[in-house]
Formats: sequence, C-alpha cells, structure tokens
Amino acid sequence: MSEHSTLRLEEIARFAAEFDAAHSKGSTLDLPTKKFPDLNIEDAYLIQNAVAARWKSRGRKQAGYKAGLTSRAKMEQMNVGKPTFGVLMKDMCIPDGGGCEIDRLSRPRVEPEIAFVLKEDVADHFPNEQEVIDAVDYVVPAIEIIDSRFRDYKLDLPSAIADNSSSAKYVIGGRPMRADEIDLRTLGIVMLKNGTQVGVTAGAAVLGNPLRTVMLLSQWLAESGEHLPGGSLILTGGASEAVPVSSGDVVCARFQDLGDVLVRFAGKGEE
Ligand code: MG
Repeated sequence: MSEHSTLRLEEIARFAAEFDAAHSKGSTLDLPTKKFPDLNIEDAYLIQNAVAARWKSRGRKQAGYKAGLTSRAKMEQMNVGKPTFGVLMKDMCIPDGGGCEIDRLSRPRVEPEIAFVLKEDVADHFPNEQEVIDAVDYVVPAIEIIDSRFRDYKLDLPSAIADNSSSAKYVIGGRPMRADEIDLRTLGIVMLKNGTQVGVTAGAAVLGNPLRTVMLLSQWLAESGEHLPGGSLILTGGASEAVPVSSGDVVCARFQDLGDVLVRFAGKGEE
C-alpha cells in the first residue's frame, strides 16, 4: 500500500471498539472521516483489521473475504482503480432459504454474487485467471446482505472500508460446480424480490470476470505478507445494483446452471 497511516494506535483501537459495538448492537455511528478528514485507505484497513482481531479474540472464525466496488460504474463513482475488501466471518452466514433478522441491521441491501471456495492454502498471489480456476474447489451462488453502520447516508471510501466494506450477512446455496465447467463471464443471473424481477445481469459485470476479484484479492493480501487460507470463501462482488430490503421481503437469486439461493427478511419473533 502506498499511503501511510495517519492515525495513532489508540485512535485505531478506539474506532475498532466503536465499530465492534455498532455491529453487535445494530447501532449507528459517525463517519470516521468526520473527526479525521485526512483518514486514508491505509488507516481504513488498519481499523478493519483491528475490528476483525476483536471478533477473532472472542472465538469467532473467519470464513473468507468479500470484495466491493467491483463494477466499472461504482469504481468510477468512487474514483478508485481496484476493489475494496472486507472479511467474512462464519457466523455471518445464513442458511439457504433461512431468515435474516432485520432488527439489527441499519439499511440492509442485497446483491447477487458469484462465490468461490478455494481448495488449499495459496502460497503466493495468483498471477492470472487460469491459476485461480485451478485453485478453486467450487463455484457457488450467493446473496450478500450489505449494511452500513453510519448515521450519515453520505459515504466516503475510507469510511466504507473501515466499516468492513459494508459487510453484514451472506447466504450461499444452489448447486456447487467446478470453475472450469462454466463460463463465468456469460453466466446469467436474475434477482427477484417478492417475485418481482429487480436485477438481470451476468458474471462479466464483476470486473469483466469474477475470477479477477480473487486474483486482485490474492495480490492485495500478498502486499501485506498474508495469503488466502485453504477453504476460504470469496464473495466476488455484487453482480448488479444493490436492492434495499425490509421486513417481510423474500429475495431469490437465480443463477444459470448453479441454481437458486433464497433469503427471507423478518423482524425478531416474526419468523
Ligand atoms: Mg457485495
């Protein structure tokens, strides 16, 4: 990473404690850039890492990673050249067809995503897409439920990254397939909310090919001396515009060849 952190360690720790509490309680907070207008991407990932470290210290297990800003339109909108990343914990997973408690979420939205599960530890970064195909155990359809812990509707890039790249929950379902069995660029995806079509897209909406997300993720991790562990789940980025959801909604994403994935939204005690 080219930038240097502008925050002191105690400031990072304080932000991490605030984000941790906001996640647990479903509460909201101010954008970190409100207090520190110079907060940069490096700072943002340090905060994100510190939050994840708090989660892991309480025994929560990491499932893998998610990517955001993977469409050209979103990248141009935020003026960035590469995706953002966040961590996925195992307990963020909702079973296919299951219910998502909406009470603890602030402004939940859903995105259909192509997900990969890796076979083994990745020793180095992936130099090309073919090497990603070889390393993928299976491809699986997913819905990501994103959320924002901020009071402010306006969102800047460092704040979003610090907020674990807006991650909240995810659902995986359908029929797992090998990565070399399908053309991930032309793979069709249709998303329905309460039976009404709200998104139609194809895999190429994600960086031209969702395999590219894994390549860039591995390179980004390698820059900080880290690597992708075997069995990692990677949500490659929203393939269509995020759709807002509220209590009572049912969302189904239909993936060509890979099948359906479904989630229901309900308040506590409504299921
Ligand atoms: Mg997403």
